[in-house]
Amino acid sequence: MVSTSSQRTVTILGSTGSIGESTIDLLQRAPEKYRVVALTAHKNAKKLASQALQLKPEFVAVADPKAYDELKRLLAGSGVRVAAGPEAICEAGSLNAEWVMAAIVGAAGLKPTLAAVRRGAIIALANKECLVCAGALFMSEVVKHKATLLPVDSEHNAIFQVFDFAQRHKVQRILLTASGGPFRTWSLANMAAAKPAQALAHPNWSMGDKISIDSATMMNKGLELIEAHHLFGLGADQIDILVHPQSVVHSMVEYRDGSVLAQMGTPDMRTPIAYTLGWPQRIDAPTARLDLAKLGSLTFEAPDVTRFPSLRLARDVLKAGGAAPTVLNAANEIAVGRFLEGDIGFLDIAANVEHALARVKAYAMTTLDDILNADGEARRIAKEFKRLPTAAE
Ligand code: NAD
Ligand code: MG
Repeated sequence: MVSTSSQRTVTILGSTGSIGESTIDLLQRAPEKYRVVALTAHKNAKKLASQALQLKPEFVAVADPKAYDELKRLLAGSGVRVAAGPEAICEAGSLNAEWVMAAIVGAAGLKPTLAAVRRGAIIALANKECLVCAGALFMSEVVKHKATLLPVDSEHNAIFQVFDFAQRHKVQRILLTASGGPFRTWSLANMAAAKPAQALAHPNWSMGDKISIDSATMMNKGLELIEAHHLFGLGADQIDILVHPQSVVHSMVEYRDGSVLAQMGTPDMRTPIAYTLGWPQRIDAPTARLDLAKLGSLTFEAPDVTRFPSLRLARDVLKAGGAAPTVLNAANEIAVGRFLEGDIGFLDIAANVEHALARVKAYAMTTLDDILNADGEARRIAKEFKRLPTAAE
């Protein structure tokens, strides 16, 4: 496709995932408006190659070198440059696209997203783990390199849409809404016995495995608390969490005059993605329209920190600062993986995170290496955690 000056050049880091595919859906509805520079995946060469054949990017990369041969073969003769390995994913972030969707899951997205930040791109940030793992460093790089950071996470996108940045001192607090996940009404005993398939069955959203498990433990909301702190410059005491099972009110900002502004919509990530893709203009999205009369009622309740201790852990690490948020994120990634493999129980996920938080030593956390060292040590400790005996044992 020949590029014209009116086209927006785009890169998708993590194009084969849930957010990546929703982004591609939007690009394909108006192909004349976009030119794709790079696409990346972890190891799904087939899906990445098929996306590349449709979207004709300059460059594609897989993180896993074992997937290189298959990707190269599938794209032979296409003119698309192919590479593999973590460095190749960073190269994708560094190529000259005006807009970059950061949709890699986990701290693996940090370096490639930073590569895009450091050339002053517009970053549509889905990868919340970046900010939990390295929030202060990430935000200072955004400022230093004059990058534009647009939140994709539905709650933060909602807040971004109604936050009065010119009068930030008039913001009393923000209210992050949470669906409560699949175990909102479950007893602790039933949660202890929950299987991965039950935890993956989110009531409202269709998402990747890791965030689905995070929603079931409510660690997702804990990560989002820390994400909101970095994005909007508010302390933990100005960020409240409110359970709202219908996922229609995506979040709210309360002002000092008593006004509460909310953004609403049906639960479909293509709305917040479209907001960032068109920014500063609004574009069309094919999502179902909100029919409040049909819905009838919206309900709200306070979160239960006893059944969902991840909420407490996240608030504690935000207050503690230093290496704690990095450790929380890394240990959680390991714990979620271990739960999905059947190695630990559902309630062990938060226990595993707490175990790592108690053991990682204090780090100076100044440089990216400091952060990666704390992340690595937390992962090692989280892998050694022994599952808790169940009541029957
Ligand atoms: P997903 O698992 O569906 O997709 C993850 C993508 O990252 C895939 O393309 C995968 O190939 C790639 N990837 C995984 N490990 C990698 C590695 N080590 N190196 C390079 N690439 C790797 O996840 P998702 O649901 O699309 O979520 C992506 C991010 O967006 C997460 O941080 C998540 O918290 C956030 N997010 C997702 C949703 C949602 O609705 N899915 C909503 C809000 C925020
Ligand atoms: Mg969210």
